[in-house]
Amino acid sequence: MPRPIEARIDLSALRHNYLFARHRARTLGGESRAWAVVKANAYGHGLLRAARALGDVADGFALLDLDEAVALRQAGVRQPILLLEGFFEPSDIAVCAGHRLSVVIHCLEQLRMLRAVLPETPLPLFIKLNTGMNRLGLTAEQLPAVRRELAAMGGTAVLGTPTLITHFADADADGGEACIAWQLERFERMRTAWPEAAGFPVSLANSAAILRYPQTAHDWVRPGIMLYGGSPFASQSAESLGLRPVMTLDSRILAVQEIDAGERVGYGGTFVARRPTRVGIVACGYADGYPRHAPSGTPIVVDGRRTATLGRVSMDMLACDLTELPGSGPGSRVTLWGEGLAADEVAAASGTISYQLFCALAPRVPVVAV
Ligand SMILES: *Cc1c(COP(=O)(O)O)cnc(C)c1O
Repeated sequence: MPRPIEARIDLSALRHNYLFARHRARTLGGESRAWAVVKANAYGHGLLRAARALGDVADGFALLDLDEAVALRQAGVRQPILLLEGFFEPSDIAVCAGHRLSVVIHCLEQLRMLRAVLPETPLPLFIKLNTGMNRLGLTAEQLPAVRRELAAMGGTAVLGTPTLITHFADADADGGEACIAWQLERFERMRTAWPEAAGFPVSLANSAAILRYPQTAHDWVRPGIMLYGGSPFASQSAESLGLRPVMTLDSRILAVQEIDAGERVGYGGTFVARRPTRVGIVACGYADGYPRHAPSGTPIVVDGRRTATLGRVSMDMLACDLTELPGSGPGSRVTLWGEGLAADEVAAASGTISYQLFCALAPRVPVVAV
């Protein structure tokens, strides 16, 4: 029998969350299309699994890796596929063109590479403007050079109409309105300085912006975490937002230790029992993707009831408190996160975000789609 740990992926929840994201993006009456952001192996949920589940509903798929984009095409995906960081070297461009991939252009070097090898089939371009995130994107000062490069390639007559894209740094923050407004203002200023761009389609919103600032939805939105049932907000649960959990990480109790007050649990003895305690040992550790820095007290569900972890997380096991769950013991079912226990709660207790928990799910954990 394999180790009793398993990640269940609820494909109907994934579809629900995608359709919900697009519906939200259209609240103000627009016709926004939604890229399903499936970078990082669909946030740990499995790229091809996610793409198949969304195959007949998604307007397009967005990711980072050229090989993954090609794998999607080979799996039969016909929708647009967007490379969020564009191409990395000139030889990528023919591959992009051959597979009809859309590319983000975030720097002048990419435009120069494109001009040097201009393919016969032009690539749909998503020109990324840096409006304050200061990670990727072209600046206001670079716009004249961008326009010159595009004109040298024949402009929109040859290249098609590009889409303008930017990314918000604070859409998930409480009180982020001012930062959003500031980035939008910069975006508008750059657009005004580029007269042809007035008619270009626009893509701005990630999950947080879709949920909190539907006025930013425009032509294309880019939901990621919300597709997987994670809340982008520290102060609002995914459930209260109308999202359903997609990944449930389940395991079982392997053993029980009955310890006296004063006994310690696990490496370093960071947990010291204050009363006689029944300690359940769970078949899940940091080598499965559970965060090692989750402290004692992190929520965990055993036989459908909430309790707390005890002591340090080891590589293959962790401990939890069964003192109030006398009916639970070896073989009892444990949920680390997912249905019945939001990944966001486990993440918050561990000082991180659900994105990181999902992406860290280890390859050794068997996955079943339901
Ligand atoms: C990852 C990513 C997204 C999705 O962000 P979420 O917060 O997961 O919704 C959107 N746009 C870009 C450019 C990204 O890199």
